Amino acid sequence: MDNTIYLDNAATTRPFEGAESIIKRHLENEWNNPSALYTAAVEQERRLKKDKETIMSAVRAENVIITSCGTESNNTVIFNGARRTGKPRHYITSAYEHACVYECFRELEQRGEKVTFVRPGPDGKISPADVAREVREDTALVSIMHVNNETGAVNDIDGIARAVKKVNPGTLFHSDGVQGFIKVPFDMKKSAVDYYTASAHKVHALKGTGALFLSLKSPLKPYILGGGQENGMRSGTENTLGISVFAGAVGDYLSNYDLYTSMIVKARQSFLESILDIPDTVVISPSDGAPHILSVSFPGVRGEVLLHSLSTRGIEISVGSACSSKKRKNRVHDALGLSGELAEGIVRISFSHFNTAEETAEAGGIIREEVLKLRRFRRL
Ligand code: PLP
Repeated sequence: MDNTIYLDNAATTRPFEGAESIIKRHLENEWNNPSALYTAAVEQERRLKKDKETIMSAVRAENVIITSCGTESNNTVIFNGARRTGKPRHYITSAYEHACVYECFRELEQRGEKVTFVRPGPDGKISPADVAREVREDTALVSIMHVNNETGAVNDIDGIARAVKKVNPGTLFHSDGVQGFIKVPFDMKKSAVDYYTASAHKVHALKGTGALFLSLKSPLKPYILGGGQENGMRSGTENTLGISVFAGAVGDYLSNYDLYTSMIVKARQSFLESILDIPDTVVISPSDGAPHILSVSFPGVRGEVLLHSLSTRGIEISVGSACSSKKRKNRVHDALGLSGELAEGIVRISFSHFNTAEETAEAGGIIREEVLKLRRFRRL
């Protein structure tokens, strides 16, 4: 293990301790194709079913389709209805979705569909009433994220789904749960949410595996056709290794939920205590946000400049979504009404239970030094 302090857990997470033994078992004797008919393959099919049940148990889902990532799950739902009708329809999403939701809706607009982008309120959240006000008779789908990946704001997705269905019971509701999955409790069985997305690499499993949870009555038209895997919804030989590690990580998180959550809260708290007296520090994240994501601004220091100077000192943070980090303008900051030096000075620090309170305090101390140094340079 190196000496870096990794504080970019919203971008991806270190695989959980049990991953190595699952990978080893897979390479040795769990590599059979689960669709084959001999005993070893039937055993794989049984394991696959059990792994999927474990993954579903995290949100009490009735059904799941395993995909390659959160991006694929989101694309699958958003383009699902659009491929079904010749008549243009209406969609609602938020202005601060992750690019893999936002860009799908931009594409639907290009194809002639109508899309309404709802803005977050002053509390950083999407209000159920604001969404319900936009629902029309022809609204096919509403997609609102569970936890915002830049600020950690937690949306009341069940409340929004119910408000939407009150206006139009036929409108389907999807939530991108990539940053919320497991970390923020969500019970799909009790909710009015039809589709919920998760991604394995955000919860200490491997890249290349995602999930699309759906209720038994949620319609879905497959667009990857072939051997009929995933109940005909997504053909292609299953990524049994990725799924087993995903299930292992979910099982580990669920059985240690209170411990991991309290470790994250402690890591965040000690970080906050070490930076709050840096002059002009502004916490952008809402106080009731998800504990693992913290957005902070140090006005007078550009976020990217701070990120690079911290990187040379072994601290890994980000200025926002890793997928959009190369884009100059931050659409999420615009949606939140943040501009000027406040917006330019924003960095995102994201935690996991692998972080200790000691190391996050140390990282905070180094941030203090770098912020004060960079501000001095700026004023010269
Ligand atoms: N949605 C949100 C909110 C995310 O934060 C991310 C990744 O950062 C994604 C979707 C994309 O997930 P994946 O990397 O599995 O495609």
